Amino acid sequence: MPITPSQILQVWQKGFVPMAAPGRVIIIGAGMAGLSAAHLLRQSGHKDFLLLEARADWGGRIQTWSEGQAEAGAEEVHGANTAWFGLLKQKGILLNSYEDEAENYYVCPSGLKTETQLNRRPDFRQSLDYWEALRTTPAQPPLSWAQWLKKQGFGQEVAAFFTTKIENAYGASLSQLNVPDVLRMGQAWSAGEENFLLEDRTYAALLEQFFNSLRPRIQFQKIVHKIDYQQAKIFVHTQDGQTLEADQVLVTVPVSQLQNDRIAFAPALPPSKKQALLHIRLGPVLKLILVFEQAFWPEEMGSLYLDDAIGEYYTSGLGPWPTLTGYVAGSRAAQLSAEGEAKGLAMALQALDQVWGEKKASRFYKAHYWADWSKEPFIEGGYSFPGPQTERHRKALREPLDGRIFFAGEATHTRGHAGTVHGALETAYWAVAEMLGIGLL
Ligand SMILES: Cc1cc2nc3c(=O)[nH]c(=O)nc-3n(C[C@H](O)[C@H](O)[C@H](O)COP(=O)(O)OP(=O)(O)OC[C@H]3O[C@@H](n4cnc5c(N)ncnc54)[C@H](O)[C@@H]3O)c2cc1C
Repeated sequence: MPITPSQILQVWQKGFVPMAAPGRVIIIGAGMAGLSAAHLLRQSGHKDFLLLEARADWGGRIQTWSEGQAEAGAEEVHGANTAWFGLLKQKGILLNSYEDEAENYYVCPSGLKTETQLNRRPDFRQSLDYWEALRTTPAQPPLSWAQWLKKQGFGQEVAAFFTTKIENAYGASLSQLNVPDVLRMGQAWSAGEENFLLEDRTYAALLEQFFNSLRPRIQFQKIVHKIDYQQAKIFVHTQDGQTLEADQVLVTVPVSQLQNDRIAFAPALPPSKKQALLHIRLGPVLKLILVFEQAFWPEEMGSLYLDDAIGEYYTSGLGPWPTLTGYVAGSRAAQLSAEGEAKGLAMALQALDQVWGEKKASRFYKAHYWADWSKEPFIEGGYSFPGPQTERHRKALREPLDGRIFFAGEATHTRGHAGTVHGALETAYWAVAEMLGIGLL
């Protein structure tokens, strides 16, 4: 029986009824998974735990650029059928279902077009409703998206918009994503189709609201580099020369950190985990947040799509200044990352100047924030994307080691919600249940 959001909500408030005492617990990483696990342990009456976080602040891939009041990492709340959505609603946090109100714009060879206008074209409509197109494909679905796109016979512009949408949604290049894998993940998705934005506060404010009382339990700038579980106690070694003792450890670092051997294990990780680490991948994702003195785009604009280095810009930010966020993932993000910040900014302003003319973007430019997640220390990537057999590998990654070392974090999500904030929370719920002897949920 799958766990329902209301079951998680109940445990979030009242805690689990522990079946075993985990002893001293060390949680590695204070992103959504680590913070949620700490909260759940505390709610369950367990007091002996601490969090070690490599960075100077918490949040991991939830990061607000404070100056621009805009999100450098996670931004949307995906779906209304999750415990995370329920928690936000319980706290009275205002969520805006922006898709209802906004109009998307597309830069076409024939000029700037709205989604309403383009929807009259069957090829465009079909590219947007690709789930339907996939479901109704009579024969075996073709393996790659490139093959699928070819089969649909989309022209260059529709193919380019479609590519941007898929790459941004899954944080990978179209060439890295196969139709059946994406379809499988889509079928496992139970969060609901609606997407929401926080209406009156940033994600940073939200973390403060939810987890403020955990701050004394977190040691910041503590980079874990070795976990030694050869003896009855587990020894956690940090880069500043400290050794901490634990009875149980929960590892919530991004999967990239395990792949890149940032943390050594003694004894070494078993072959099933090593195999899993070869298959679960984070793609490159980059955001360029642009603040302007004056808006030069239509008031109702949601996203602007164009066939360029950054394929999507959307209106963003809660600050007083008009703000656009450029979003790019996959091979184009890798290319932009190689170009670097100065060139990337120049390219973005030039592209926006071309769309709206009169050098408006360059003239009204005020400030920017460059969030290149593939280069971010302790993260080194965006979010894990579906590949062949990914679910099996995610299960292997999630499997506890020696009954004492547990794993959580978005990449360990085995039921379709990997790569999301609510998914990271759900993995914390499963891990804490196992740590408290309740068993595999
Ligand atoms: C650009 C971008 C946009 C996104 N947009 C959305 C969105 O709109 N909606 C959504 O639901 N999700 C979104 N996501 C995904 C979401 O942010 C993540 O799935 C989620 O935040 C992951 O949480 P986590 O706890 O698993 O990992 P993380 O947030 O990565 O936390 C892991 C923590 O471990 C720490 N760490 C790493 N190594 C060590 C070490 N050696 N020692 C100690 N600590 C260590 C890291 O510093 C980090 O704080 C987005 C992600 C990105 C990058």
